[in-house]
Amino acid sequence: MQNNIRSESARSLARVERGNLCSGCGACALIAPDKIKMEIQPPGYLRPCQTGGVTEEQDQMIAQVCPGLGQTVIAGDRPDDPLWGPYLEMHVGYATDPALRHTASSGGALSAVLVHLLKTGQVDAVVQTGAAADVPNANAAVLSRDERAVFDAAGSRYAPSAPLAALAPLLNGEGRFAFVGKPCDVAALRALAARDPRIDDRIPVMLSFFCAGVPSLTGSAAVIEALGTTLADTRAFRYRGNGWPGRATATLNNGSTLSMSYHDSWGMILSRHVQHRCKICADGTGTAADIVCADAWVSDAAGYPLFEERDGISLIVSRTEKGAAMLAAAAQAGEIQLEKFDTSNLASIQPGQTVRRRALLARLLALRCLGRATPRYRGLHLVAAARQNSPARNMRNFWGMVRRSLTR
Ligand SMILES: Cc1cc2nc3c(=O)[nH]c(=O)nc-3n(C[C@H](O)[C@H](O)[C@H](O)COP(=O)(O)OP(=O)(O)OC[C@H]3O[C@@H](n4cnc5c(N)ncnc54)[C@H](O)[C@@H]3O)c2cc1C
Ligand code: SF4
Ligand code: SF4
Repeated sequence: MQNNIRSESARSLARVERGNLCSGCGACALIAPDKIKMEIQPPGYLRPCQTGGVTEEQDQMIAQVCPGLGQTVIAGDRPDDPLWGPYLEMHVGYATDPALRHTASSGGALSAVLVHLLKTGQVDAVVQTGAAADVPNANAAVLSRDERAVFDAAGSRYAPSAPLAALAPLLNGEGRFAFVGKPCDVAALRALAARDPRIDDRIPVMLSFFCAGVPSLTGSAAVIEALGTTLADTRAFRYRGNGWPGRATATLNNGSTLSMSYHDSWGMILSRHVQHRCKICADGTGTAADIVCADAWVSDAAGYPLFEERDGISLIVSRTEKGAAMLAAAAQAGEIQLEKFDTSNLASIQPGQTVRRRALLARLLALRCLGRATPRYRGLHLVAAARQNSPARNMRNFWGMVRRSLTR
């Protein structure tokens, strides 16, 4: 094996770096755990750091599964919407446990499914993301073995996470796990599963959520500053949850709390710190997952979401037979309350996802014209999505990306 180890930087990682295409999933660190580590790099994103030569096989494997370089979606015989991807059913719903519904991000549907999987012994534990022990606005991968641990990890944390980097010991050990990750994390894991049989044996369930992008830690530090305090004076930080959408809340070392609405924290600060890869993401809706959850926002008459506090409701997209069966069983067991969702309303309750998907082709073309690298998307209906925009709007998106790229 020694003679095929390449001492220089992995070619795959160099291509990702040239285009600034890393989403921070951690798949490369899983493929070469002793040579690649994920570390926080300025302005606060998780990025791979190569500490030694990887083998040719590892380099090729990274090139095949890295979501920064591309993603392939195969719908098979499932309905396949140009914006929302392949799915079997959509519901709205919420966890029947009122405490879980309240603490979770939207309706706690995602956590309710996890609780059901653990209670019925379908998995031994869940790999998910919670607050880091040492840095209040940062994340860490956690292994939740019971309902209490799932409860503690519920809620969205709008900061970098690299949950695949934590999987190596689980793949080499015993047990079966559910995995929760961003859509790009699940896309990478699914692509890896096609090449590494340990993944389907150990991780039979993959769940995700709609994702508008990952802000840097500088973004959440800016929220904390806007609250009138500092990271050093902050003991714990919740991005949202404890209500729907719930307030961004800093708990200070003296026990007092400061908070800000979701509209102000995400809309005015965090969304401005989202990494480049997310602005050209074709899969913010988790096409590779078994089940994907999102906010089932309530809209006004003009179709724009209202962010007034109320009891949470999750949108739940079942993408695979396995996902649909798990959801039905969780409802049957009384863990989750479900109602069918009329998919024709989805664009109006998810305007951010809709706008980004329709703008994507124009943005990618702009980057290509400037000679910049872009991810290679297959089966994601870029042309059909762009056709939902007027030619004038596509031109505006094209020139907007040219301008931003030249001034960056
Ligand atoms: C970065 C980010 C962007 C998002 N963008 C959108 C969007 O555009 N539209 C939308 O409708 N919803 C978005 N969400 C998802 C949304 O906030 C809710 O997670 C979703 O509505 C499901 O709610 P729930 O109550 O069912 O989930 P919960 O029961 O609260 O479970 C949330 C799960 O997400 C996991 N998690 C939290 N933060 C992270 C993270 N950074 N990385 C990996 N896993 C994490 C938790 O461990 C938990 O398992 C985003 C979430 C994140 C983290
Ligand atoms: S996107 Fe994932 S696999 Fe690709 S370089 Fe970044 S962390 Fe590694
Ligand atoms: S927007 Fe896309 S690339 Fe960015 S974190 Fe979410 S799923 Fe990954």
